Amino acid sequence: MVRPPYGSNESLFQSECVTCESKACVTSCDEQIILIQEDGTPRLDFSKSGCTFCEDCANVCEPNVLNLENTHTSEQINATFRISTEGCVAHNGVICFSCKEPCIDDAILFNGLFNPVIDMDRCTGCGFCLGRCPTQAISYDAISMAIHPNETE
Ligand code: SF4
Ligand code: SF4
Ligand code: SF4
Repeated sequence: MVRPPYGSNESLFQSECVTCESKACVTSCDEQIILIQEDGTPRLDFSKSGCTFCEDCANVCEPNVLNLENTHTSEQINATFRISTEGCVAHNGVICFSCKEPCIDDAILFNGLFNPVIDMDRCTGCGFCLGRCPTQAISYDAISMAIHPNETE
């Protein structure tokens, strides 16, 4: 499950969020990417926007499930992103930079005009690229919050 940033471990979401009445993280997020699932815990939805790491969700989370002291997730979403070489038009001879422009971390590397790949050393998992791809060629997988994507899972 892809959680908001500033979390420390999955078990806190399971123990605290289910009884959190305010769900204050949801309304704090200007990007409106935090959704509450049926089990009462939050997940991120990148279909329309991404995370700016504004810290607002952590600032309003009274049970401290989201906590600015969790520095390993302060600018890192627990997700790894990839570009499908079949689905991406720039891997198939068409010029397209739709994903590159919203990536403020410059984590999408092109070989000249074509063949974009995501640089895992730079990607924060913010998700802004996902909804911008005209062919839905970008996807992601949730990873353990304790593991940085640059490390071996
Ligand atoms: S405000 Fe904090 S405790 Fe409440 S649902 Fe959001 S992350 Fe969970
Ligand atoms: S850091 Fe800001 S943009 Fe990111 S999920 Fe939290 S409130 Fe939303
Ligand atoms: S490549 Fe990574 S850092 Fe760049 S927009 Fe996509 S998710 Fe964000």
